[in-house]
Amino acid sequence: MRFDGPRRLRIPGGGGQPAFTVRLHQSPRALTKLTNDGRAVITSLTVAREGHRWHASVLARITQELPQQPTRRQRAAGRVGVDLGVKAALVLSDPLTLHRGAPPVLTVDNPRLLENTARKLARAQRIMSRRYVKGATQQSQGYLEAKAKVAKLHAQLAARRSTAQHLITKRLVQQYAEIALETLNTKGMTSSAKGTAAKPGKNVRQKAGLNRAILDVGFAEINRQIEYKARWHAVTVARVPTFFRSSKTCHQCGWSDTAQTLADRTFHCQACGMIMDRDANAAYNIKNHAVTRQA
Ligand SMILES: [Zn+2]
Repeated sequence: MRFDGPRRLRIPGGGGQPAFTVRLHQSPRALTKLTNDGRAVITSLTVAREGHRWHASVLARITQELPQQPTRRQRAAGRVGVDLGVKAALVLSDPLTLHRGAPPVLTVDNPRLLENTARKLARAQRIMSRRYVKGATQQSQGYLEAKAKVAKLHAQLAARRSTAQHLITKRLVQQYAEIALETLNTKGMTSSAKGTAAKPGKNVRQKAGLNRAILDVGFAEINRQIEYKARWHAVTVARVPTFFRSSKTCHQCGWSDTAQTLADRTFHCQACGMIMDRDANAAYNIKNHAVTRQA
């Protein structure tokens, strides 16, 4: 394997396969610089076909000093509370700069592109199932075309979701010294008993529809990325105890609203009068109540 020009990767032949060249989405310049300097060793190359595209994934072992402590800028920013939601992808207690030069945000919405793709995918899946003939030994050309379209959109959605998630998690670990999150309950994610943002209940699933589909694998993946990227930037990850209900408690006075449901978008505190977006209140609670895990 070698890089063939600025954005080309030459895959050697073998096993009856001729050699071929693939065009790269990203410039390999950073990686070639590291390998030329002897700081990185490419250990494997995997080529796979996903939907309509070929994917070449290059695995390299890179020697790099990890920072002992967060930067001054990170320390000044301190801790951020992150509420992973259904309506908005993320609601934060403190601002985050996603794109250089753009104003910082407190809410990260699902990219429009992602929602459009998800909508197209839902439509393509309906067409596909309509064309499916049960019991047939061979499906129609129309069905096969629809099936190919579904596969293509699936791959596109996965790629777009991944790009969006990686940007968010990268910015979080770059800009804060500590990230506070809810405790991820993988069991709760499939049960419908409780209706918190991290584990939406049955009604939520129906109501949120499209958003739910998009975010289905989002919670676990964002958590996973934050955990491993935190180590690269000396960031600590803090978790809210599972018994604490961040979306049902007033972050100002601690009053608990047991009648609060996911349908209530605004938190009205009956004790101190605080009125705030439900997820923003949750993000403050997560920031205030998360416990730093001892490494
Ligand atoms: Zn209150």
